[in-house]
Amino acid sequence: MLTVELTKKWMELFYDEIDKNKAYLSELDTPIGDGDHGNNMKRGVTGVKEGLAKLKEPDLKATLQAIAMALISKVGGASGPLYGTAFLEMAKKCNETQKPEELFTVALEGIKKRGGAKEGDKTMVDVWAPIVKTFSDGSFSKEEIKKAVESTKDMEARKGRASYLGERSIGHLDPGAMSSGYLFETFIDAGG
Ligand code: ADP
Ligand code: MG
Ligand code: MG
Repeated sequence: MLTVELTKKWMELFYDEIDKNKAYLSELDTPIGDGDHGNNMKRGVTGVKEGLAKLKEPDLKATLQAIAMALISKVGGASGPLYGTAFLEMAKKCNETQKPEELFTVALEGIKKRGGAKEGDKTMVDVWAPIVKTFSDGSFSKEEIKKAVESTKDMEARKGRASYLGERSIGHLDPGAMSSGYLFETFIDAGG
């Protein structure tokens, strides 16, 4: 069950992971993008930390909304509104259910609707979609997360900046898939 406690712990660990891998995320974004994904995400998680610190005894909805707003307003790149939409959709749904799989499902739907990407287009959707499915057979794990991130390497990009490269995008991991991998890994580390 997603709780305020778990969400706060999750965001602390996500901050640390982004901070640690900022250079790597930008490195991934260099051959197939504009080399800013690490900096974008670092600005985002810094905003999340500040946004959450300002809340006084928030409920889950307010917590998820604050995360969404920080990501939408601070990340800057294409990934910001997509991550922001994911958390906004979770915020909308969380009074009805606190089950992670149900919240991640509506988050994924939001990302797809907002960005128009399908599975196989070499985007963060290629991590979110298979990971959402792992909850139904109980295989949600770091191993499955890694597999999903790795799967983007052989894909040809059809959305976002990497799509300008066409076939030349093949052979590189998608940076947004990697940062989404960190998001799910830190969810596990937080106790989710
Ligand atoms: P920008 O490309 O504007 O510099 P970022 O570098 O922060 O933005 O983020 C790039 C990542 O965003 C990509 O690696 C990809 O995972 C994700 N992305 C871009 N466009 C889309 C889209 N339409 N749908 C889903 N994810 C997308
Ligand atoms: Mg970029
Ligand atoms: Mg950019």
